[in-house]
Amino acid sequence: MRIIDRTRTAMLSTARRWAARLPPPVGQHLSPASLALHLSPVIPGECSANMEIATPDWSLLRQSIVEMVAERGAMPVQVFTVGRALDEGAFRIIRLAHRLDCPVVVWSDGTGLDSTSAAELVDVGCSAVAVTVASLDDDVQRAVVGNSVVEATDAIVALAAARADRGAPIRLHLALPWSAGVEPEVRGVIGWANQAGVDAVTILSPVRGGQVGPLEEWTEVLRDAGVENIGVESERYLRVLSNETGGQPGIPKASSPLRARLRPCPVVGTRIAIDAKGTVFSCPFHPPMGRMTDSILTVWQKDTSHRNAVQQCTRRCRHPTLALGPRLPGRWPIGF
Ligand code: SF4
Repeated sequence: MRIIDRTRTAMLSTARRWAARLPPPVGQHLSPASLALHLSPVIPGECSANMEIATPDWSLLRQSIVEMVAERGAMPVQVFTVGRALDEGAFRIIRLAHRLDCPVVVWSDGTGLDSTSAAELVDVGCSAVAVTVASLDDDVQRAVVGNSVVEATDAIVALAAARADRGAPIRLHLALPWSAGVEPEVRGVIGWANQAGVDAVTILSPVRGGQVGPLEEWTEVLRDAGVENIGVESERYLRVLSNETGGQPGIPKASSPLRARLRPCPVVGTRIAIDAKGTVFSCPFHPPMGRMTDSILTVWQKDTSHRNAVQQCTRRCRHPTLALGPRLPGRWPIGF
């Protein structure tokens, strides 16, 4: 029965994601395909050093999950916790989403993820975890991700051990930011991760230009190493992004493929997000929709300014947690 429910969730989510790519008024006015909980303000692949950590309003986050599922049915839930240790409140939220049949993906950099919390993460029903590791060199890891190599690699080892211990079907991804400076150690990171038991290695394109890793021959090297999401389109995107200064997210709309130029960014139809303080948004780079007080859907339905800003956005982003949709690149477990 659970597999049937998960398959239905996956099909609905995919249909909404594709429909969100239709021109307005259809595309931008659909129900969101996924819910994102930003416990930490950074997007995976960005550096979390010096970020401000707010204490989450757990009751609002809980309420947003319950309301979304009651009104729109089960949907994928992403939990962003890069640079922030998972605590009891986060585990309760994940358990709640899991019990409501929402597949939950946690994006972490391994901060505070030891053997005890890894076991708890598996026990509360998380479907997949992506841990960001940029390098086996501590200086590079700190500069690109913001924590230490030991923290990140120990988290992957702890998750793999907890999964094996419990025989749980949780997927484990290594998220590799393709930022300048990661290339000398990249083969070592991928080899180590495969030995540690990750299911896939996936590339995180930098959110902004000005820091993209080298591209000559490297895309071939990464493909040969089995890294996912190095298709022709992402390669082309990275090339354009590498010429950007980094002032704005993504690449200019005019430099994106024709079909992406002709439609608005699908981010509004793709995701509804709420941060630790209860601010609701779809795109993290435009002014938000507003603060959730008692209903996340009311904020969504009343919004026009955020939606207009997205419709008129002159940029195009290609990041697995944003406009590409609520998924890790590559294969999902059953039900995604
Ligand atoms: S609206 Fe879309 S393309 Fe524009 S900044 Fe936001 S995510 Fe990027």
